[in-house]
Amino acid sequence: MALHIEKTTKSKISSVDFNNLKFGQIFTDHMFECDYENGQWQTPKIRPYQPIAFDPSAKVFHYGQAVFEGMKAYKDDNNDVWLFRPDQNQERINKSAERLDMPAFPKEYFFEGLTELLKLDKDWVQKGEGNSLYIRPFVIATENCVSASSSTNYKFMIICSPVQAYYAGEVRVEIADKYSRSANGGVGYAKAAGNYAASFYPAKLAAQQGYQQVLWTDASTHEYLEEAGTMNVFFRVNDTLLTAPTSERILDGVTRKSIIQFAEDKGIKVEVRPVKVSEIVEAAKKGELLEMFGAGTAAVISPILGFAHKGEKFELPKVENSYASFIKKSITDIQRNLAEDKFGWRYKIQ
Ligand code: PMP
Repeated sequence: MALHIEKTTKSKISSVDFNNLKFGQIFTDHMFECDYENGQWQTPKIRPYQPIAFDPSAKVFHYGQAVFEGMKAYKDDNNDVWLFRPDQNQERINKSAERLDMPAFPKEYFFEGLTELLKLDKDWVQKGEGNSLYIRPFVIATENCVSASSSTNYKFMIICSPVQAYYAGEVRVEIADKYSRSANGGVGYAKAAGNYAASFYPAKLAAQQGYQQVLWTDASTHEYLEEAGTMNVFFRVNDTLLTAPTSERILDGVTRKSIIQFAEDKGIKVEVRPVKVSEIVEAAKKGELLEMFGAGTAAVISPILGFAHKGEKFELPKVENSYASFIKKSITDIQRNLAEDKFGWRYKIQ
């Protein structure tokens, strides 16, 4: 593969305060980019990070034909840089693209682009607990035409942002009983840009009631619990972990599947099955709902302290030996090359 590389002549890194990073606001020195024209992906390139110009009629602005990914790179004490299961993100962006009628991006381009970009911007991956480089691959429709149909042209890009430990503060959630993030036959399983745009308004309404996230339910009945904000969700009832099966409505999260595999390997009982709102409410009333947590790349695991359902409020107990902290520590140790990689999840940048 021919990859054209133009290096920056002036790195911005010395101007960055790595101890005071807000999530996703600072970007590294370089970006990867590849255009789809005349029915094929053109020569990919890496060049200095910079704004890019688009015609106002570019389809992405009008119809939101856009998909993205989120992944992280970690640096260990030997200065080696690692990714966590990047094959999953590579496959998922193409699944998302297929649903949005966009062309698949070749696997070799994805990995070579990502590798070269991370080698160039290696110094932006900071060592130490909680530090990582958030990686955002995305594809947008770039044809200059406002007819409502699939674009003929696309741009694939990867940009990277240094981040510190993600702590969302105390999280309480409101169980959705009016709005939905996805429906049968829809795009819920895809990381389609519009899914996120459509979730902001219900999230704002929940925030006005004091809830940091919406606990999404199925669109047809609102009786089954599906995702928490932009994370998959787990419930610990007594000693069993429950999570919904992935479906056309639920994103197949890399963290979710890793937690299931890890927990089962440790002998924790995991039930992957539809989870009813009523059973979780009942379990909370009986004191059997011990933990709830969101699972996703940004936070790995984000504990949920309480929830509201149709105006009724529930607080979770404080538990000793929480599954959330044990699993989070174990998975972040694997990500950071501090623990044995029993499942072959780490991918070294070299
Ligand atoms: N659900 C949704 C809707 C998401 O946007 C994300 C973040 N990608 C997740 C779940 C978690 O997925 P992952 O563990 O792959 O980050």
